[in-house]
Amino acid sequence: MVSEFPASARVVIVGGGIMGCGLAYHLAHEGWTDIVLLEKAELTSGSTWHAAGQITHSTSSIGLGACVDYNIGLYAGKLEAETGQSVSWHGCGSFRLAYTEDEMDWLRQTLSVGRALRFNMELVTPARVRELHPFYNLDGVIGALHTPDDGHADPSGITQGLATGARQLGARIIRHCRATNITCLPSGEWQVDTEKGSITCEHVVNAGGTYARQMGEWSSVLIPTTSMTHHYLVTDTVPEFLDLERELPVIRDDKQVSGYIRMEQKSGLIGIYEKAQPNAVWLNECPWAAENELFAADYDRIMPWLENAMGRMPVLAELGIKREVHGAISHPPDGNPLIGPA
Ligand SMILES: Cc1cc2nc3c(=O)[nH]c(=O)nc-3n(C[C@H](O)[C@H](O)[C@H](O)COP(=O)(O)OP(=O)(O)OC[C@H]3O[C@@H](n4cnc5c(N)ncnc54)[C@H](O)[C@@H]3O)c2cc1C
Repeated sequence: MVSEFPASARVVIVGGGIMGCGLAYHLAHEGWTDIVLLEKAELTSGSTWHAAGQITHSTSSIGLGACVDYNIGLYAGKLEAETGQSVSWHGCGSFRLAYTEDEMDWLRQTLSVGRALRFNMELVTPARVRELHPFYNLDGVIGALHTPDDGHADPSGITQGLATGARQLGARIIRHCRATNITCLPSGEWQVDTEKGSITCEHVVNAGGTYARQMGEWSSVLIPTTSMTHHYLVTDTVPEFLDLERELPVIRDDKQVSGYIRMEQKSGLIGIYEKAQPNAVWLNECPWAAENELFAADYDRIMPWLENAMGRMPVLAELGIKREVHGAISHPPDGNPLIGPA
């Protein structure tokens, strides 16, 4: 059993969310053996644990699309088979709705990206949406993009699975160990100082999520991200769902709901990316003591979209809310993942 704190490694990954653990897993599969991952608290205790877990083939970029498709394959069976860790994959498919010709153009562009990547997706009429999702009010909808191979999974389960897979191939994951500084040495190597000692390494990866910007400052690297909050709400049990033999597809309704609606077991789950008054948090610094941090739900902010959501899914309208999730996500200006050498 290895117990001594490592003095050196080929790569140190700082951050034990889905990104850090995913990188450790994939480097280990590429044959890297000298990998150390540091997490200041427990794995997934940043943004990852409270994610709603949806993943979709409907993307506007070839690179991101290929990445999504690969990950769906991993979550839909391979990771669980390899590590024994359940990831609760639900392959329910999804629809993205259009109400205007401009939105149809957007769906056509997304379809062209998916077709180039040979994804299983098609443009469908509202009648087809109604056939697969009889509970959604489709007034005003003129078409939709159907992506039947989409779904959702448990992000904590995925992250633990990735960590298990990495460990099985020799990676070291050190929890409750905060990195406190990163410096470039004259040799070109990096020194990562931590609460438990220092590690010298060839490569260091900043996978700190909402902490990434302040960690970048240690080495004068400007990381252009802001933490903004996002809500999803889970309703009480929906009586109309009790006898369903299959899970309804996820609906992405950007115009009316500015978000997504799906089943969560036999409840409804409504996620809202409000288009007005976005809420930025931790503008100067994300507190180091934050762990599994959630904010109180802010119904005033999301109410216009929530009311629309109830109008679109009348079976949810009279139900209580049994779970409120309001957490922070680190956003770069273009909304795409910020990946690459610094
Ligand atoms: C309510 C909500 C719903 C969401 N739903 C979805 C969804 O359906 N689908 C989707 O794709 N995304 C969703 N997201 C976004 C998703 O959660 C994030 O994009 C993702 O979890 C980011 O992962 P990460 O590994 O980059 O960051 P994190 O999970 O935040 O991990 C960073 C880790 O680094 C650690 N760390 C930071 N600094 C240090 C340090 N100095 N030393 C050691 N450790 C450190 C932190 O403790 C943390 O564990 C949602 C987000 C929210 C808030």
